[in-house]
Amino acid sequence: MDSHAAAVRPAFSAMKVLELARCAILVLRREDGIIVSANPSAEKLFGRGPGELDEVPVTSLLPEWKMQTTTGVAGAANEPAGDPDVFHTRGQWVGGHSFTVEVGFGGSGRDPYVVLTIRELRDHEGGTAELQNLVSLLNATLESTADGLLVVGVDGRITGINANFASMWRIPRTMLATHDDQAVIDLVVEQLEEPDAFLAKVRELYDQPQAESLDVLEFKDGRVFERFSRPQMIGDRIVGRVWSFRDVTAKRQAEVKADQAMRDLAKRADDLRRLAFTDPLTGLGNRALFNEELRRACSSGGPQHAALLLLDLDDFKEVNDVYGHQSGDRMLIELARRIRGVIRNDDIVARIGGDEFVVIIPDGCDADSIAERLVDLSRRPIDVGGVQITPSLSIGIARSGTDCPGRDSGEDLLRRADIAMYAAKAAGKSRFVSFQPEMMSKLIERAALQENLRKALATGAVVPFYQVVVARSGEVVQLEALARWQHEGKLRLPSDFISHAESTGLIRDLGAAMLTKACTDMSGWLAEDAGRSIAINVSGLEIRDTEYAGSVLRILQTAGVDPGQLVLEVTESVFLGEETEVITQLAELRRRGVKISVDDFGTGYSSFGRLHELPVDAVKLDKSFTRLITGGAYHSPIMVSMVDMAHNLGMAVTAEGIETNEQADYLNRIGCDYRQGYLYGRPQALRDVQAALPYLTKKGRRLPPG
Ligand code: C2E
Ligand code: CA
Ligand code: CA
Repeated sequence: MDSHAAAVRPAFSAMKVLELARCAILVLRREDGIIVSANPSAEKLFGRGPGELDEVPVTSLLPEWKMQTTTGVAGAANEPAGDPDVFHTRGQWVGGHSFTVEVGFGGSGRDPYVVLTIRELRDHEGGTAELQNLVSLLNATLESTADGLLVVGVDGRITGINANFASMWRIPRTMLATHDDQAVIDLVVEQLEEPDAFLAKVRELYDQPQAESLDVLEFKDGRVFERFSRPQMIGDRIVGRVWSFRDVTAKRQAEVKADQAMRDLAKRADDLRRLAFTDPLTGLGNRALFNEELRRACSSGGPQHAALLLLDLDDFKEVNDVYGHQSGDRMLIELARRIRGVIRNDDIVARIGGDEFVVIIPDGCDADSIAERLVDLSRRPIDVGGVQITPSLSIGIARSGTDCPGRDSGEDLLRRADIAMYAAKAAGKSRFVSFQPEMMSKLIERAALQENLRKALATGAVVPFYQVVVARSGEVVQLEALARWQHEGKLRLPSDFISHAESTGLIRDLGAAMLTKACTDMSGWLAEDAGRSIAINVSGLEIRDTEYAGSVLRILQTAGVDPGQLVLEVTESVFLGEETEVITQLAELRRRGVKISVDDFGTGYSSFGRLHELPVDAVKLDKSFTRLITGGAYHSPIMVSMVDMAHNLGMAVTAEGIETNEQADYLNRIGCDYRQGYLYGRPQALRDVQAALPYLTKKGRRLPPG
């Protein structure tokens, strides 16, 4: 109370009246409308604390009212009682909320102070429809929200709940009606997965009334709520706390599902990727993986050089042919296992072809010792279906950036490893060889050879030379055609080009050219005597062709040569394996009268054992046996039994490589039917052999020296 208030304090009882009055009383200075005294009821009505209304302009409480000097009428909302000193107007709550009040104005025109008695009007007392609307709108909003709302006063008692809260938390109406807060809390808590955490959060927030929080509640039955909490304010004052709950179960489930779907998708993509990069037989990487890893290893470009090991199984085709594809597969699987056991974690291994594996060593370290261990490991026998097979590996090694500086693409590296691998095969297989730049020039030579041979075949530069074969009588009864290549003024021998023709497929053209030429060259000589024949050397690769027999018969027919005057010389190796086509083709030719002879007989491993199974008519003892015959006293039981065995099977025997009379006599003695060798004549060009043939007349005569 200030000096103005003191002036209106006539007696202690008046103060007491003010303090005890149930209605709000304000004392104002008439001249400026400043409040000089307000009783506790007034402070409560306008939401203020003790003394907070002192020296405050009355317009801040009753903004619509303008005080006149004599009465309070002007500016008032209305005068319900017909009394000019009682009127209705709007009262202003702290923080902005307004309400309707009835004001009684007291004080005559001469008093420096006026007294206002103020009472809030309830709805039923004629409160404005607007306010009623506002309240019901607010209620409707609270009820229509999807959230469950709980309002708790500062004293911890529940002051409000919306219908959603009750249904979301499954609180029966009857329980709500009892206003038993503890029962409600118990019911809430017992539904939760972690009730302690829930209560701890509640306690924490009561210790920090200003705080807001958002968290998630998990229910025992699987539901999930989001819990949001903020203080309930009236103006600046915290009067409680609002808890709002939102059921996010469906959203959560959708999120979990979406999450799972994403994971499934990622896994499937992963599986597909793995599949796309895996060799199904061995489980190693495949060519696609190898290409990618090789590119990476070559492009990483660090100070270290990647090494590439190209592994090729030696004679794998034979394993497949002899023991079948299943055995071949088992061998590959076992080899893959062994390779995996040798390489280190960072190395990459893949199978890039039937019997081809690669190892990439990204840092290039220890490539030689890894290759050495691989070669050693491969040599241990593998059990395939009860049979022990000892595989062997040839390995070529190439290093990026070192062998050929500046040429570092993965493709180049692979090519160099390939060249080194072939060098390992050429050096005897079952070993590793590192690439050397000189190997490249050899390769270029080979490519040139292939091109030249192809041209030679096209232009007829590969021709047969003929070597005579004589009967026991000494009469020439056969001519063997031996290929010669007239190249740049020189004659090249078969050892220069036959294996090359075989590896490039040119052997088919070569074989056909030899047969055609020999038939045309010799058709006249053959026609003179049905006992004469020509012998042609044939590679196994030619006979595998399903058209082979047909093409041989066509050539014979075109040249007018009787099939019975053709002998095809094959080596035993063509009968190895399970290849049935060779047998089919040879059987067809024999049916038409063509004779089959086993060349180099005695050098192959099945010489004795399998001869009776082979579709052949004759054998030609290898010249290595002939070479052993050094003098008149020489005796070879092996040769004797070979000749006897062939005869027992109804086959004729030819001995080749005869250079001396001793050899000729011995072979004659043990019963050889035909003889061939430099003693009778070297292989000669057509012209020369044609010139020599007439000198060979009757028995015992020999050719003039060739
Ligand atoms: P082959 O069928 O065993 O032929 C015998 C080889 O021994 C011939 O060598 C021949 O010149 C040589 N020779 C003949 N008599 C004697 C002798 O008394 N002493 C010695 N030391 N050697 C003698 P060539 O002509 O160099 O043929 C080598 C091999 O090339 C042939 O061995 C044959 O396997 C193969 N060959 C030759 N022509 C053809 C052909 O047209 N097609 C196929 N596929 N292979 C052929
Ligand atoms: Ca031969
Ligand atoms: Ca031979």
